[in-house]
Amino acid sequence: MPASLSDKFIIVGAGLAGTLMAWELEKRGVIYEVWDAPKNPSKSSRTPIHSSPPNTSNQASRVAAGMFNPVSFKRIVEVWNAREHMDVMRETYLKIESFLKIPGKILHKSPIMRVFPNSQYRMLWEKRLEDEHNVSQFIRPVSDEAPDDIVAPHGFGVVPEAGWVDLPLLLDSFRSFLESKGKFREKTYNSTFDDTIQTSNFIDCRGVGATEDLANHNLKIQSDHGDVLTIKSNINTKNMCVNRVKWLLPRGNHTYKLGATYKWNVVNSIPSEEGREELLTGIKPIISSEVFDNLEITNHETGLRPASKDRRPYAGKINENTYILNGFGTRGVLIGPATAAHLVRFIFEDKELPKEINTARYSS
Ligand SMILES: Cc1cc2nc3c(=O)[nH]c(=O)nc-3n(C[C@H](O)[C@H](O)[C@H](O)COP(=O)(O)OP(=O)(O)OC[C@H]3O[C@@H](n4cnc5c(N)ncnc54)[C@H](O)[C@@H]3O)c2cc1C
Repeated sequence: MPASLSDKFIIVGAGLAGTLMAWELEKRGVIYEVWDAPKNPSKSSRTPIHSSPPNTSNQASRVAAGMFNPVSFKRIVEVWNAREHMDVMRETYLKIESFLKIPGKILHKSPIMRVFPNSQYRMLWEKRLEDEHNVSQFIRPVSDEAPDDIVAPHGFGVVPEAGWVDLPLLLDSFRSFLESKGKFREKTYNSTFDDTIQTSNFIDCRGVGATEDLANHNLKIQSDHGDVLTIKSNINTKNMCVNRVKWLLPRGNHTYKLGATYKWNVVNSIPSEEGREELLTGIKPIISSEVFDNLEITNHETGLRPASKDRRPYAGKINENTYILNGFGTRGVLIGPATAAHLVRFIFEDKELPKEINTARYSS
């Protein structure tokens, strides 16, 4: 039976998943509150996450560069459900911007300039366009006119629809709204002894914080560590994100994000020399040496991506009063809005969840 709009809901976790869920409930006029585990008040939201155990302290959404890209560069194909996810994503963040009265601040356009690693890759890019492959709707013809600061001997191709979402701003602004309405509580959820558990419906959006509980439901959450550097530089990328496995994303005011590393199944996410070197080494070949030598690193952050076994998100119901939104992995910004919208239709309208995201795919 679907839930009623007059039922009370508690969303646990105020990362991207929890915020998107709150937005969906807000639109429907549902009675809800959002809980998030208290953080050390002396640390700012952009301070690197380290030392404390990841179960409640990890906030992937605050570390993420927030990029979205409809193309998977490994084989030059479109990512899963690219068109639907791009459309729902754009509409959702624009509506949230307007609701929070911060138009133009959350969703940003920044085409990706994919620097080709070799001539075979260049040929594959050209072939995708010639063949009118599905991905061709997202990519532009090969070019050799790279900006002066970029080294691209094999040329490059552009993905014009790519960009980024200012996740810290989205999270902070939505939280301020919730606080102003008395809908936010700093509270750590403990599934085994919470007295409100009898009276409310929970939507568990705890990211890697839900790992142990979800394992009891045969849902594996893999904690995939990543590093991102914040850089100051005079490099001119013509407002494009430059990509060659590692990427450099312009964030305005000569500031760039350089990311990201990827390490599977890490328990504690700590900024390391190794992570920093991997990022710098990865970007060095496509930046002129003069610019590279003058990069100034102003921050180094790390976090744990909550990833599922099959790289598809988890949405569904795991017991009488608990729903799940998790497993956003590396593409939370792009897949999150459509997944949250599917879950809310499942909760209130009894609409079946798409098989690929339904937690029931692991229930046997
Ligand atoms: C280095 C790095 C770079 C990334 N770059 C990108 C990118 O460019 N684009 C992209 O789309 N994705 C990116 N990601 C992935 C993205 O961050 C995730 O997909 C997404 O943020 C996950 O959101 P979430 O809400 O599920 O988890 P989180 O953001 O981790 O939020 C979980 C929340 O639950 C709270 N919580 C946990 N346990 C409890 C508890 N017991 N009680 C109460 N609250 C609790 C935590 O405090 C936290 O606020 C990146 C991730 C990393 C680590």
